[in-house]
Parts: sequence; structure tokens; C-alpha cells
Amino acid sequence: MRERVVVAGAGIIGSVIVRQILAERPGTEIIAIDRDLVGSGASRRSAGLHFPVGRTERVRAMTEMSERYYQALAARDPSLPIYPVAMHAVAFGTAAEAAWRNFIKAGPIETSPPACRRVAMGQPVGASVWSVPGCHYTDVATLAGRLVREFRSAISLLEGVAVANIREEAGAAVLVLSTGETLRADRLILAPGPWVNAPAWRALVAPLGIRIKKIIALHLDAPVEKADAAVVFPEEDAFLLPLQHRGHWLFSYTCLDWDVDPDAPQPGVSRQNLDEAQAVLRRYAPELVEKLRSGRVFCDAYSPSREPIVARVGASGRIIFAGAANGSGYRLAPAIAAETLRLLDD
Ligand SMILES: Cc1cc2nc3c(=O)[nH]c(=O)nc-3n(C[C@H](O)[C@H](O)[C@H](O)COP(=O)(O)OP(=O)(O)OC[C@H]3O[C@@H](n4cnc5c(N)ncnc54)[C@H](O)[C@@H]3O)c2cc1C
Repeated sequence: MRERVVVAGAGIIGSVIVRQILAERPGTEIIAIDRDLVGSGASRRSAGLHFPVGRTERVRAMTEMSERYYQALAARDPSLPIYPVAMHAVAFGTAAEAAWRNFIKAGPIETSPPACRRVAMGQPVGASVWSVPGCHYTDVATLAGRLVREFRSAISLLEGVAVANIREEAGAAVLVLSTGETLRADRLILAPGPWVNAPAWRALVAPLGIRIKKIIALHLDAPVEKADAAVVFPEEDAFLLPLQHRGHWLFSYTCLDWDVDPDAPQPGVSRQNLDEAQAVLRRYAPELVEKLRSGRVFCDAYSPSREPIVARVGASGRIIFAGAANGSGYRLAPAIAAETLRLLDD
């Protein structure tokens, strides 16, 4: 009998996990289930920025592994929406030195460099700047869809079907689906993005202490030139990103609204969101502040340690949670998948 692995959630993390199970565990029967279409959750709203940074050894190793994975994908199929982008980091005073150390790859710190010449903003007075090689960004939902298209015929994919209930029984995890169908899984992987409190798995996932935080990326209406570089502001956990494929810039800043519900109606960008974002950007590029007028508002799952979580949940050892990537689920998805497969093998 083939081992049956069910993956619940087909965002970028679930999609990469399925791809890796197919590559590394041939013969496995895979059923992927998403209550929406592939890539419709946090992945659809993502800025999709990868840059080589990490505050801990584990995250740095995950970042490097994921970068190699995406580079290999892009080399194999250049038509994938993976776009290399130049990047500079900008910080002030002693904070610059501390931030620079978190970068896996970075040029030397320069205090009066020509580095920002080709960026939408000028060089802020008194700032330090360094270049950050190895960056790219992605249209994450499209990438997930393209990955799934490649392996769709090798798995069962149930879109528009929610997992309504999970029971752990002797010999299987038993899922009840929104269609009424009952499925038995030898192994079950939960990749629910910000839906960690979905009724089906709330009790299983609760011990992990995950919380949901709002993420806001504002759209900045300024023309995007081919040579434009992204700019990251490590002190603020914020960045400016030229989205070539959409023809506008994006400004992501750290919004501190916690315990939001991904299913709550989205009221859109609020005046408060704009004020917060403008206050951050004003420090670096006051000339751009008035160009922030719209954007994308959603949320993501955050772990207590701020490192992604790949862990067994429940009593049977058959169920693995993979996610809580703290606003970095795109850039860490391949490494999260790799850790998930290691747990499957244990
Ligand atoms: C505005 C914004 C900007 C971001 N920018 C970046 C960035 O620049 N770089 C970066 O690395 N990360 C970024 N992130 C974070 C990143 O997008 C997420 O961490 C990542 O998309 C999470 O992927 P996922 O597959 O875990 O979740 P999701 O994409 O949310 O997928 C989870 C899936 O689970 C499904 N699901 C939920 N409940 C059920 C159920 N009961 N049954 C079946 N299926 C269910 C959902 O429909 C969904 O498709 C950003 C996020 C946001 C919101």
C-alpha cells in the first residue's frame, strides 16, 4: 500500500512541500486540499521579496538553502515570475553596524556612496548604505500556480474544499471535508498560513503559541525603471521594492496590529495605516511620502521565537505543522519544506 500524505493548505509553503515530497519520496500518494484556489491566501498578497538576511543561525541557513532552490527553479525555467533585483540597505549611526551583521551577503558599509543614485529615493543625510547581492522578488501566487501546474496530474488536488474536522484514530488521521467526504491519511501536513485558528486544527496548533499579525504593503505611485534597486531599512523592518511586473513601487513597513482574523472583512488601507507608513518613510525619503495612497492589507502567522515552526502536533505523531514564518514565508518556503520532509522521514 502506498503511503498517503495529505497536505492541507496550498499556498506557497504547501505547494513547495508537495513538490518536494514528489521529488524525494516517489510512490507516495499525495492529496492537497485548499478551501480556496492555489495561492489565494497570504501568498496572493505577498511582496515576494527574498533578501539574504537572518537573525539566527537556523534562519540564515534556511535563507541560503531557499535562495539556492529559487535560483535553480529560475535557471531551469526562466519564464517563472522570479525577478532578480539589486538592493541597498540604509541605516543610521551605530544601528547600521548591528544591522549589517545580520546580512549573509553584503557589500562594505559606505557613508557617502553613489549607491542610491539609481534608487527612487536620494541618499538620506547621515545614513550609511551597503549593497545586498542575491536578491529577487516573485509574484508568489503565480509561482505557486506554476509549480502546481507541473505536478497537478501526479497528485489529487482538491480546490475549493475546506478541511472541516480532524480526528486522530489508530492507524490514521481522519479528515472530514466541507463536501462531507471523509479521508484517511497516513500522514497529514498542515500548511495553513494565517489560518492557524481554523476550527479543524485550532486545538492541535494552539500549543505552538502562534499569533496572527497584520501586514501592510503600500503601493507607491512612481515610475519603475529597469535599473531601479530595492531599498531595505533594517532598523524599521521596512523596504521599498520596484515591482517591474506591475509597474509601481511597494513600501512595506511593520504594522503592529496583532490577533487579527484572516477571515474578517478587509476594510482596506486606513488613514492610520497611511500615517504610520508615512512616518517611517519620512525618515528616509520625505519626497516620497505623499505618493503612498493605496496598498494591500492582509496578515501572516508569527511564532513566539520569530523562527518558522516545523513540528509535530497532536498525540499520534502523524500530523506536522509547517509555517508561522513571520512575514517571510515566501523566502523561507523551500527550507520549511526541507525540514518538513526530514520530519516525515523520522
Ligand atoms: C502584504 C504581505 C507582504 C508580504 N511580503 C513578503 C515578502 O516580501 N517576503 C516573504 O518572504 N514573505 C512575505 N509575506 C509573507 C508570505 O506571503 C507568507 O508568509 C506566505 O505567503 C505564507 O504562505 P503559506 O503557504 O503558509 O500561507 P497561505 O498562502 O496563506 O496558504 C494557506 C492556505 O491554507 C488554506 N486554508 C485555510 N484554511 C483551510 C481549511 N480549513 N482547509 C483547507 N485549506 C485551508 C488557505 O485557503 C490558503 O490558500 C508577506 C505577506 C503579506 C500579507
